[in-house]
Amino acid sequence: MNLILLGAPGAGKGTQAEAISAKLGIPQISTGNMLREAVKNGTELGLKAKAAMESGALVSDEIVIGILKDRIAEPDAANGFILDGFPRTVAQAEALDAMGVQIDKVLEIYVPNERIIARMSGRRVCEGCGASYHVEYKPTAVEGVCDACGGKTVQRKDDAPETVLERLSVYEEKTAPLKGYYEKTGKLVTVTGQEEVADTRKLVFETLGIEG
Ligand code: AMP
Repeated sequence: MNLILLGAPGAGKGTQAEAISAKLGIPQISTGNMLREAVKNGTELGLKAKAAMESGALVSDEIVIGILKDRIAEPDAANGFILDGFPRTVAQAEALDAMGVQIDKVLEIYVPNERIIARMSGRRVCEGCGASYHVEYKPTAVEGVCDACGGKTVQRKDDAPETVLERLSVYEEKTAPLKGYYEKTGKLVTVTGQEEVADTRKLVFETLGIEG
């Protein structure tokens, strides 16, 4: 199964991608996590991406398409993958088509903007492995410590309120048009993100025909 998760920043794509990945045994491919890792390690790619990421803008299509192409060519992606945060522009979707990648479903997680803004303030991510948490909806067992790897969980710089507004406007302008793009192919399905992670997961699994 090759899946795309669509949805505004903070809608819960990463959390649901982790759940689908664990259930189906296919990797979650998050361009945001890959870029954050590159920034953390100070690589050439990271240096190019850093300013755009911190201001809430998108990293250039050229850079992101390059890293995505390399990632899906890795052996663990041979039986399917979940794209989380890619494509984010029509140009990226066209590039994916041009690579000959067959997409089975595009799952949109819809959450109204006012809920997104409230949620983002509680979001935390692991500095070590990139796993995502929320202080209220998906807390770690020990505060500030990642359940998966024991790393430190922190607030993302781009989850600051003013940057969140910028990211939502970038989403409306650049990414939301992808709904129309995938609607035409008949592959778009939408679920409304619920307050509880488990409730959204149930809807997501039902929509994808996965047994919970
Ligand atoms: P995310 O973790 O998916 O919210 O991504 C965090 C940031 O990384 C975004 O605000 C962008 O600056 C950058 N980014 C991640 N994925 C993409 C993409 N597909 N295209 C452009 N920029 C991206």
